[in-house]
Amino acid sequence: MNYISTRDTAETPRSISSAEAIKTGLAPDSGLFMPESIPALDEAAITRLTEMTYAERATEILSMFLTDYDREALLADCTEAYSEARFPGGAAPVVPIGDDMYSLELWHGPTCAFKDMALQIMPRLLSRALTMTGERRLAHILVATSGDTGKAALEGYKDVPGIKISVFYPDDGVSAMQKRQMITQEGENVFVTAVKGNFDDAQNGVKKIFADHSLAEKAAQNGMFFSSANSINWGRLAPQIVYYISAYCDLVRDNEIFMGDVVNVCVPTGNFGNIFAAYIAKQMGLPLGKLICASNSNCVLTDFFNEGEYDRMRTFYKTMSPSMDILISSNLERLLYAIGGAEFTAERMASLAGDGSYKIPYKVQEELAESFAGYCLSETETGEVIKRIFEEKGYLADPHTAVGIGCAEKYIEESGDTRKIILASTASPYKFAADVCRSLDIEPASDEPMDIISALENATDTKAPAQLTRTLTMDVRFDGVIDPTDMPNVAV
Ligand SMILES: *Cc1c(COP(=O)(O)O)cnc(C)c1O
Repeated sequence: MNYISTRDTAETPRSISSAEAIKTGLAPDSGLFMPESIPALDEAAITRLTEMTYAERATEILSMFLTDYDREALLADCTEAYSEARFPGGAAPVVPIGDDMYSLELWHGPTCAFKDMALQIMPRLLSRALTMTGERRLAHILVATSGDTGKAALEGYKDVPGIKISVFYPDDGVSAMQKRQMITQEGENVFVTAVKGNFDDAQNGVKKIFADHSLAEKAAQNGMFFSSANSINWGRLAPQIVYYISAYCDLVRDNEIFMGDVVNVCVPTGNFGNIFAAYIAKQMGLPLGKLICASNSNCVLTDFFNEGEYDRMRTFYKTMSPSMDILISSNLERLLYAIGGAEFTAERMASLAGDGSYKIPYKVQEELAESFAGYCLSETETGEVIKRIFEEKGYLADPHTAVGIGCAEKYIEESGDTRKIILASTASPYKFAADVCRSLDIEPASDEPMDIISALENATDTKAPAQLTRTLTMDVRFDGVIDPTDMPNVAV
């Protein structure tokens, strides 16, 4: 299985191995890597997976895409990455909410958000890719984060051989809990620093380092090269395909559905990575019906599916589901490519870069509508869903998951489609405890993280994940704040 760029319009596109695609991240023409073909998964294969553990399922699926990786090595990596120690209670459990909706809880990992599902395995895949491609330099991963990604990357890359990681977060742009999680980070190869300013200042600082040739040279002299951990890397996307297939297997195993039954999927979406992984699972042959793309007030994707135009020139809203506050959904490029090919994609990406928008023909819009339905939820609606789902179904949802639930409800109401729904639940409610408390009319004693968490525990009779509360008592290792102009000095 080889990989090609979504923007490679040559008659014979340049194709590279999966190890190279994972090491490179972004294609030289700025396109994203896609597999040359989608491997097929038939009923017999799904049935076999049903008997397996999560790590075994992951090995089976990943080895269909990463054909140059040694299978035993993949099994060893998946077994480590998805172990009970890292995911207490299981990697991706399926929990019913009412009769026809199942919450696929993707947040039992070290940082309590779904990015762990990819970032626990991706560094291991990268480490092997470096060896497989004969790379001798140290990979220095640079991350600018608005909260979730930074911590998940730190946990994933810590103490991985051949790799060093530096995370930059905006001094006044992350929650108290998120900051706490990062500044207490353990590991010999990690570095964390606050940057004066907002997320864009941190992000621009990292972009400047990547674009600066003299810095790249200096890094090379020190036996190092810069690399990124963002969600456009195929090594982050491939592991996300696994849990949709795994959820289907669990439903069959637990007699919730029969093999072959079609189920819908709903995904709270930002960068379009998570839901695109569901689309690939469907293309492979997993019996999935509609993929409901759920957005918050930043409803650029909802409009795209409904109107056939992607337009990022609009107001940006800060919401209580911050990981979905995105106006450029990078992974949508992969869908354009899957539907329209490289030329179609390259044209639209040029238009997005130039005018901030692009259109798709009505025929393509109709074709997309066979697989996708876009819905969005306002802040008020999201708060109401958190309250109602807890009171009526006893399920405590974080704001991202609540956006998913609310959009799934709108879809059912509008379409009358009553097939069962797998809902991707992307964060622990305790990661966003302040907003969850507010939605449930719970008043904590103070706005200290520990008081907010205790208030939520007491009022809902649930327990905060230990990996989260633990950071509240750990020693602070990184208390530095730097100016954006000093970021290059940290990088080399
Ligand atoms: C990153 C994230 C999302 C969005 O996922 P995408 O793959 O970017 O669409 C949703 N919820 C949470 C909690 C996240 O951290």
